[in-house]
Amino acid sequence: MFQDIASFKQAYTDKLVKSEGVILEDASPWNKYHALIALLQEIMISERVLAKPRDKNVKRVYYFSMEFLMGKLLKYYLVNLGLEEIVRAGLSDLNIDLEELLKQENDPGLGNGGLGRLAACFLDSMAFLGIKGHGNCIRYKYGMFEQRIIAGYQHEVADNWLRKGFPWEIRKPEKAVTVKFKGNVKVENIDGKWQFIHENYESVLAVPYDVPIMSYDNPETVNNLRLWSAESVPTELDLESFNRGEIKPTNASCSEVESISYVLYPDDSSPAGKELRLKQEYFFVAAGLGSIVRSYKKKSAALADFTRSVAVHINDTHPTLCIPELMRILVDEEGLAWEEAWKITVNTFSFTNHTIMPEALESWPIDMFRNLLPRIYMIIEEIDRRFLEYLQQRFPGRNDLIQQTRILRDGQIFMANLAVFGSYSVNGVAALHTEILKRESFNAFYQIFGYKFNNKTNGVNHRRFLLTANPGLSHLITEGIGSGWIKNAEALKQLKAFHNDSNFLEQLAKVKYQNKRQLIQLISEKQNINLDPSSMFDVQVKRMHAYKRQLLNVLKIMYLYNQLRDNSAVFNQSYTFIFGGKAAPGYHYAKTVIKLINALAQKIQKDPAANQFLQVVFLENFNVSVGEVVYPAADVSEQISTASKEASGTGNMKFMMNGAVTLGTLDGANVEIREAVDDANMFVFGLTAGEVIRYNRERTYRSWDVYHANSELQCIVDQLINGFFEEASEEFRVIYDSLLLYNDEFFVLQDFAAYIEAFKSLQAAYSHPKEWNRMSLINIAESGRFSSDRAIREYADGIWKVRARIPRDR
Ligand SMILES: *Cc1c(COP(=O)(O)O)cnc(C)c1O
Repeated sequence: MFQDIASFKQAYTDKLVKSEGVILEDASPWNKYHALIALLQEIMISERVLAKPRDKNVKRVYYFSMEFLMGKLLKYYLVNLGLEEIVRAGLSDLNIDLEELLKQENDPGLGNGGLGRLAACFLDSMAFLGIKGHGNCIRYKYGMFEQRIIAGYQHEVADNWLRKGFPWEIRKPEKAVTVKFKGNVKVENIDGKWQFIHENYESVLAVPYDVPIMSYDNPETVNNLRLWSAESVPTELDLESFNRGEIKPTNASCSEVESISYVLYPDDSSPAGKELRLKQEYFFVAAGLGSIVRSYKKKSAALADFTRSVAVHINDTHPTLCIPELMRILVDEEGLAWEEAWKITVNTFSFTNHTIMPEALESWPIDMFRNLLPRIYMIIEEIDRRFLEYLQQRFPGRNDLIQQTRILRDGQIFMANLAVFGSYSVNGVAALHTEILKRESFNAFYQIFGYKFNNKTNGVNHRRFLLTANPGLSHLITEGIGSGWIKNAEALKQLKAFHNDSNFLEQLAKVKYQNKRQLIQLISEKQNINLDPSSMFDVQVKRMHAYKRQLLNVLKIMYLYNQLRDNSAVFNQSYTFIFGGKAAPGYHYAKTVIKLINALAQKIQKDPAANQFLQVVFLENFNVSVGEVVYPAADVSEQISTASKEASGTGNMKFMMNGAVTLGTLDGANVEIREAVDDANMFVFGLTAGEVIRYNRERTYRSWDVYHANSELQCIVDQLINGFFEEASEEFRVIYDSLLLYNDEFFVLQDFAAYIEAFKSLQAAYSHPKEWNRMSLINIAESGRFSSDRAIREYADGIWKVRARIPRDR
């Protein structure tokens, strides 16, 4: 690694010549960007190679996830390597602006939202803590769509993120794995042993691309995110076998093969119900496990010891086919007996559940599944059969338990049931969520396998979302308490010493103001809207979803607007309401809410009596990079889901560590945020999870009654359809109907009055800057427990049984 500016400049200009084939004067911005990445990559790889040879048999963790929402890497890796200043200065000497190079990078769109972002935070913390932990995913050619807002409507544009290539990845064709689909299974008894021979299958070549994962101040641990790309098996191979008469030329056509890694499903809330999705799931699971078993066998032949060296984590149900696939490898390829193979399999896998939304629990029609994966289906049948046998012996007469836990039922395969049965650990992602799993969603499983269940509250990477995204606040914190918090987020607690320090609190407010100006600049550049930095920034950014209740926030803004129209003297503070988030392309309701937000924004903006007090913006194309500007600029963090529905949330944690005060329901990790900061530093309202679950069970909720009992609410709901929104009055009828005709499934009307009350208390608190800044400080100080370092330590100790390092001091 270079120690000074001069040696960096030398290395960089050399690299331009050697890897880009240009001299500095002729280099394009892309050449300059590319050369910098090539240089960093070289450093990272040589650090890995030169690192002290550690115990080769150290246990590895493989994190299987359909999504990794990585965000940009260049800036972050410069910070991690401690090179930001040297590189910035060296480039500047060469007349290159680092900021310009940073703009060359795209967000890899390999995820939808919270689930994919969690996986990315976990990769960072594993690398930081010295855990050999690798990601396993698909190299989607097209990632999550880009969202454009045109005339208030969401439009989806394909995210061709690989157009210019992804300079961080390294293709490893020699590590390709063949994955087999379709065909039939011949069962033969050879020497008294049953053999299962898969014939007439279609082969797909899975080619890995590795992205190096390295964290802060720990260059010895460079892990991999392995992304699998689907390619057709080279034809000369087929020809040879064909000439020998071994296989029929049934390889699927090229484009059909490539479609497997073509596009990320832009819907994280319901199974796409398509064969292609199932193909994707089996594809990356089979490729990942194939390469894990192969590299294990290279080091050690004893499969009985597999689980001493390997832990595989199943992030949500999408990678659940890991379980029958490992059984297939162990039984069919390695010749193990079923019982022995099952013991290894169960002790290999751990599973995280991310949602209790029934429509998001995956199931596959048996007919489709059997046709696509005939041998895997047979194995699932056998797993199901043995599970049933076990239940009948252990819990005779308990048909209720059997009903609720069957893997095969009603012509469907239930992936969550397979995942729970086939794993040694099942965790929820916040304390409340885990309790709901135990008591409700997986209660039958909890009665059978209580010992498997545990909680691992989510966390976020504070080095990305605070240290790197919010340099102003980071400097202030480090001035106050030193830099220990970067490696140990719990140290943020020391900030509490400043809770009465007027000077420090004013500095905090200044940083917030500067961050608001940065967000204002971003919005003005991208959307040509000008915002007021002295207004209160009230932000709700997350996927658009009925249960996340962006609608409740809209109703609140309509309430404030109606208040202003009645009496323009009611406000002595102006408010900016910022929304952002993508709606799944087929999710009509969510898209209508986007249109509603934009219609309201327009209406207020055109009203001279209101527009100096209220502004509403919908931020286009919310992604990690936009988030890195938004989270630091928020005064208020809106976390207002229907209690019980938001498993954890991680946006809530990112806002909190950047000093926003939460306005939220008692859902997901909000409950733990409240435990951390106390009611005095947070605004909580609405139905509890228990109340929502009771309403749903007893069916006693009548939204119509709530509507009739509250005249202000009635007026607002009527405005959705009575011409108040001139250009679009019929459009919002779906929302109106959801609230009244369909009895308001997400209890928006029920929580409205409490939400308004909570917002009024918040308004009052905001009018006392010193008190408000103190609340902000307490939120930052208590956010350490929500670092993904804490979460990963808990996974390492409690689930994977691997050792995490204690970072050395600087
Ligand atoms: C953190 C994050 C999310 C998750 O936000 P929630 O508020 O927890 O739903 C979604 N998208 C992006 C880009 C994020 O960074």
